[in-house]
Amino acid sequence: MTKEDGFSGEEIFTKETGLAYNDFIILPGFIDFSPEDVNLETNLTKNLKIKSPLISSPMDTVTEAEMAIGLALMGGIGIIHYNNTIKQQVDEVRKVKRYENGFITDPIVLSPDHTIADIDRIKETYGFSGIPITENGKLNTLLIGIVTNRDIDFETDRMKKLSEVMTKKPLTAKKGISLSEANEILKKSKKGKLPIVDDKGYLVALMSRSDLLKNREYPLASKDSKKQLMVGAAISTKKESIERLDALVEAGVNLIVIDSAQGNSVYQIEMLKYIKKKYPHIDVIGGNVVTESQCENLIKAGADALRIGMGPGSICTTQTTMSVGRPQATAVYKTAKYAGKYSIPVIADGGISTIGHISKALSLGASSVMMGSMFAGTAEAPGEYFYDKGVRLKKYRGMASQEAMEAGGGKRYFADESGIMVAQGVSGAVVDKGSLFDYVPYLLKGLCHSFQDMGARNIKSLHEKLYSGQLRFEIRSSSAQLEGGVHDMYSYKEPKYM
Ligand code: GDP
Ligand code: 5GP
Repeated sequence: MTKEDGFSGEEIFTKETGLAYNDFIILPGFIDFSPEDVNLETNLTKNLKIKSPLISSPMDTVTEAEMAIGLALMGGIGIIHYNNTIKQQVDEVRKVKRYENGFITDPIVLSPDHTIADIDRIKETYGFSGIPITENGKLNTLLIGIVTNRDIDFETDRMKKLSEVMTKKPLTAKKGISLSEANEILKKSKKGKLPIVDDKGYLVALMSRSDLLKNREYPLASKDSKKQLMVGAAISTKKESIERLDALVEAGVNLIVIDSAQGNSVYQIEMLKYIKKKYPHIDVIGGNVVTESQCENLIKAGADALRIGMGPGSICTTQTTMSVGRPQATAVYKTAKYAGKYSIPVIADGGISTIGHISKALSLGASSVMMGSMFAGTAEAPGEYFYDKGVRLKKYRGMASQEAMEAGGGKRYFADESGIMVAQGVSGAVVDKGSLFDYVPYLLKGLCHSFQDMGARNIKSLHEKLYSGQLRFEIRSSSAQLEGGVHDMYSYKEPKYM
């Protein structure tokens, strides 16, 4: 393609008109590779990389542990919402962190005097039941046995002591063994668990066979240095968030999102500086912002990534109610270009309703996308399905909807003590999307095809094409937009996902 075709990003975004994703189209590039050659790895923040550029919104109808686990297994990441108590949010983070491991360095341990009922409770909370037994039920003391599901599944007396059912002298490995050596022992021994002990026989860690399988099944999984799934959590800019922050960090959260509809505030700047000083190893995503000067303030305060969007969300009424915000495509292009000078990745947040919108956000310089409505209808989102006129639905609501604010979610929108709430969102429902484990692979495959059409093998090269002017765009007239959708059909069957 020559530069006579279409326009560069710089050319379409210089007009006074702000653009939404539907207002422009990307012209095709040159294909010399297959969709399988596309690699969607990306910078989530300055210091963290993920293999799929998908993030779920910190909303109480979108992201709790189940969503975060599913997304992290498939290479993205979930941000646990904070419309709950500190304990509830921390429990969700812990569930994600305990889902998959290398060495489990803080395994749950019981003593011989505990009962099977204690294991039942652990199983209910965390989903596992393979428990090492030490003299006094603590880590770093003498290992005397192990209880696994097979020791207790047919036991009717749940008050029986573990000393009566445990397997004594289980197979162990010595502290200092490498992860791959320990994996080999697990594979060869055909055991489900491998306790790691020191020279004195004291338990120091545990390994689980199921992690080998998870590792094989999910090669894209987003993991930290302990081989645990990565997870983020949102907090507000209010002082009360400090206690929440401490508890989240203690639970092993990988990144903090400061959740604020208009992020360019003294409150956010102070919070950012505070977190970066107290926990320099934790990455912080600041936002939301849509202009260069907003970015400047948050980058100066130490943000490791920026969340872009004010008003494009499907449930959002900010632009109408407050008349402040920015059309999302323009916001993404302008902020990504500015933040890119400081190597700060931007996350296009909200307003995404198709694979094409994800591609467009990435083509405008975003490193990843954050989505609420796209994920809210999946089985892994919180809440139960219900039916309306025969259609299977799930509840989805803005965190600044009246309903969510009444349940405690006004934190993002400076709700004050006066009792008067000005909603900036709505509550409603979205259609059933089935399991995330079918839906995310579909999104990723669609993205790979789109990258092939654009002629870019990965996100880095897409951004290089954008900034060198090789990636070409055109504005779409309103009839061009109609032409680009399905038209002139008497009837047609919609695909499973649009
Ligand atoms: P179990 O056989 O009932 O223990 O359960 P699985 O082996 O199916 O699942 C265990 C999963 O939980 C693995 O992915 C572990 O990494 C993870 N896990 C996290 N923390 C712990 C822990 O303290 N004890 C055990 N047993 N597993 C843990
Ligand atoms: P969606 O993916 O549904 O289009 O948008 C999700 C995004 O909308 C969230 O990540 C968040 O930034 C934003 N959001 C969530 N709740 C509200 C709300 O009540 N009002 C507004 N203005 N934005 C919201």
